[in-house]
Amino acid sequence: MRLYNTLTHKIEDFIPNSQENVKMYTCGPTVYHYAHIGNLRTYIAEDILEKTLRYIGYNVTRAMNITDVGHLTSDSDSGNDKMVDSAIREHKTVLDIADFYTKAFFDDCEKLNIKKPDIVSKATDNIDMYINIIEKLLMKGFAYQSNGNVYFDITKLDDYYKLTNHKIDDLVVGVREGVEEDTGKKNQGDFVLWFTKSKFQDQELKWESPFGTGYPGWHIECSGISIKYLGENLDIHCGGVDNIFPHHTNEIAQSESYLGHKWCNYWFHVEHLNLKDAKMSKSTGNIVTVSTLIEKGYNPLSYRLMCLMSHYKKILEFTYDGLDAAENTYKKLINKISSIQEEGDFQDAAYKDYNEKFMVELSNDLNTANALTVMYDLLKDASLNGKTKLELLRSFDKVLGLNLIKEKKETIIHPQHDEIVSLIEARNKFKQERNYSEADSIRAELLKKGIELIDTREGTIYKIKD
Ligand code: AMP
Ligand code: ZN
Repeated sequence: MRLYNTLTHKIEDFIPNSQENVKMYTCGPTVYHYAHIGNLRTYIAEDILEKTLRYIGYNVTRAMNITDVGHLTSDSDSGNDKMVDSAIREHKTVLDIADFYTKAFFDDCEKLNIKKPDIVSKATDNIDMYINIIEKLLMKGFAYQSNGNVYFDITKLDDYYKLTNHKIDDLVVGVREGVEEDTGKKNQGDFVLWFTKSKFQDQELKWESPFGTGYPGWHIECSGISIKYLGENLDIHCGGVDNIFPHHTNEIAQSESYLGHKWCNYWFHVEHLNLKDAKMSKSTGNIVTVSTLIEKGYNPLSYRLMCLMSHYKKILEFTYDGLDAAENTYKKLINKISSIQEEGDFQDAAYKDYNEKFMVELSNDLNTANALTVMYDLLKDASLNGKTKLELLRSFDKVLGLNLIKEKKETIIHPQHDEIVSLIEARNKFKQERNYSEADSIRAELLKKGIELIDTREGTIYKIKD
């Protein structure tokens, strides 16, 4: 397996600490809003990584946090707590907000066939661990208390910026932009481990600690949860590219200073999904969610396929035209597979050969586009019988997660929004002409495809049936 490693800035052979068990950590969602399909692009790529590792024979233990405290509106410790802002906006408690959006996140993951990590832990469930790390960092002289908060002193490390491959000065300027001066910091780049000086008088979530009543910074959550559940030596840490700095840079600083040795060998980062030249972002409201796609009549797995058609290290531009093309490709693929009869004797050598080709592509820094080409090659291969083809597709789908086989029997592919609207218009016309049998047959046809029409005073609306 070869993977691009952000830490070394090159593609490398992946060699885990133990062949028996790969330890993988994923930065989880900040649960103050629905995940957008950009966030989910990252989780799809991480899902492919985990499944590829399992496919090529590794055991994987994967952990993920749920950020329900401490993530401020700027990643550099300024602004408001995103959870608190959301609770105020929705007139709910922070815990209600967290529960609601955590459930929504896993529902979306399920629709995209993203496997739930083995260990999922809420930031608020591990406060003791953060306190323990911070105490040790203070004791070792890596952290200091000032103005009520506890900060990490980045000048104590020679290689603080090792993950970013940027000149120190460039990043310091980047951090300064748009960030109001924090007079408690000794150095502009220092970051908060524990807040007691909250901007919010009504900050709901606070804990007693040796440094005062307060709450943890965002970065310490991932170090704490990862070390607590996966131990002192991590194989792979994942996230979107925006996490490289400051979040992952800070995670490395505090984890390695606490442990006294190297912590994680491979850093896996997924490029962003952009919307109309801008980053898709929960905080700017520039978002499309899985529900948006479903409401527009798309199958969420078409979006998964769209992600797999491009490389995770390339920026992906989201357009509905692009999604239409992916949905078309997906429908054709499923139709083609559904016409394959499970017949003939299993062709062992050919099976191994195709499986090998598929693994070679994925092992090459997750080349999912080429892995899909292997799948298309096997579909076209006249020397393969139906039985072997279907076995291969079943096997590939363990990684691709496109419901290649199940789709043909169980899942209805809904017509798209525009198509439904024009059928509703045709039905209205028939009704005006009192041609009720034609009107009814349109209703029945749509129902067969999972679309229910509801006539209201304002006109006909439609609902996608579960
Ligand atoms: P958050 O919920 O904001 O903490 O982000 C969850 C995950 O989504 C993180 O790994 C981010 O790096 C990633 N992410 C955020 N925005 C995008 C985007 N536009 N495209 C892809 N991944 C993203
Ligand atoms: Zn994290």
